[in-house]
Amino acid sequence: MSPSLARPTRRPERLLILGSTLTVLMIVAVVTALLIREHANTLQSAKRTANNITQLIDADVLRNVELYDMSIKGLITATERNDLLGVSASIRHLVLFDRSAAAPYKGDILLLDPEGEVLADSSLLTPKTGNFADRDYFQVHRNNPDVGLYISRPFLARCVCDDQWRIAFSRRVSSADGRFLGVAVASMRLSYFHQLFSSLNIGSDSTINLINHQGILLAQEPMLELDMVGKDLSQRPNVARMLRERDGSFSSISSVDNQPRLYSFSTVGNLPLIVVVALSSDEIFAPWRRAAWLVSIATGILCMGLLWLTWMLCSELRRRHHAEQVLSELAATDPLTGLANRRILDQRLRLEWDRAQRSTEPLTLLMIDVDHFKAFNDRHGHHGGDAALRTVAQVIGDNIRRPADLAARYGGEEFAVILPHTDAKGAWVIAEHIRSSVEHLPRVNGADRPITVSIGMSTWDKRSRMTLEALLLKADQALYEAKHSGRNRIVDAGQI
Ligand code: GH3
Ligand code: MG
Ligand code: MG
Repeated sequence: MSPSLARPTRRPERLLILGSTLTVLMIVAVVTALLIREHANTLQSAKRTANNITQLIDADVLRNVELYDMSIKGLITATERNDLLGVSASIRHLVLFDRSAAAPYKGDILLLDPEGEVLADSSLLTPKTGNFADRDYFQVHRNNPDVGLYISRPFLARCVCDDQWRIAFSRRVSSADGRFLGVAVASMRLSYFHQLFSSLNIGSDSTINLINHQGILLAQEPMLELDMVGKDLSQRPNVARMLRERDGSFSSISSVDNQPRLYSFSTVGNLPLIVVVALSSDEIFAPWRRAAWLVSIATGILCMGLLWLTWMLCSELRRRHHAEQVLSELAATDPLTGLANRRILDQRLRLEWDRAQRSTEPLTLLMIDVDHFKAFNDRHGHHGGDAALRTVAQVIGDNIRRPADLAARYGGEEFAVILPHTDAKGAWVIAEHIRSSVEHLPRVNGADRPITVSIGMSTWDKRSRMTLEALLLKADQALYEAKHSGRNRIVDAGQI
């Protein structure tokens, strides 16, 4: 065991590691919490944006539908006037379509008779011939008097004037007694929605859609798939959910391109139309993702730097700790023999003495002195003397085994051994081992007799009334007695 009394602890090092690990964990936790909050804020503001867009579209569509409805209602009111029968065709035409001028993307406004034949046409004085009895709006009004304003499925115009998709707004014309007299219908080009939607900048990967309550797509901007207008999308899970909920927002994967999207949707007034703004999640979170990367990298570098500094500090602490240990061991060790020095002997003796007093366990002190060492020195020189002292110290050290035992150089060619918890009998055995081991050491070249030691032994036990000084004195006296009675022997102070 090292002769030093107490090993310095590594507590500061552990505290440092614990402190910086906790700091790193806290930094990571705070940054993660901030990023999560920022993610939620980004989503929130995207929802707000989408909502604003739906409101904007909502208002515009509603206003236009009202214009169309006004035209149709005006037409129906005009048909109820009996005085129109006597006027010229052009005046009749003017009165019939009096309120139908303002609607944008307007197609024809027609008045159909109960068979679906055209009675009046807003674009021609002499109405075009044609039967529209097969159209959904005609059939709906003929079969049901209470539909009110009906918005048809998208259709292509029957004339070859263009191949643009249209929808029709229609109302039933009924007699005073509720008989079906025909249908007033106004068509609108769906390019109106195209123009409206494309005027709103929502990002390249996001779409604005208009579906009716049957899940039929009326408009989409930009178009994700070709020929989508008029398609029934009600079976698609996201559309089915919107048809169910009518208003709201949710995040989901698009069944068209498998991209994550934020869907925000709202019913247009009380019309059977739903505006859907589908914002691309990738686009929404792109700025957040960039910021998150930067913050994560910066945090990573900061934490690594902190850990690196901690590691550097710890190795410096370890180096100092080691140097302190070496120094304290040097300060506690006798340089010639490697045993504990006198200072440590005194400290330890005081410590073990106090401990023995408390525990009432016996304590034995051996004083060992090399015999005729002056003569040995004279014969073999100081160098040889030193080597012999080292050998004797080694033998003494080898013969004490318990961790509490201590062998020390007392001074010159004298040694002392503290044996706590050891009575005279047990100490005698150890002393005898030391004595005989030294005697049997290989003889030094040219020596006429072996190296021997004399040992004085003194034991404190609970029966003895002795001070520490007396213990030392008695061991010394026993050693003197051993010298006096012939050397190479052990004398127990208790036996004198
Ligand atoms: P005794 O049997 O009565 O003990 O006789 P002694 O010659 O051993 O005793 P004495 O006290 O007369 O002599 C001790 C000698 O030990 C004196 C000194 O030369 C030698 N000595 C003391 N310390 C050292 C040391 O560190 N190295 C060497 N080589 N010799 C030492
Ligand atoms: Mg001596
Ligand atoms: Mg001596």
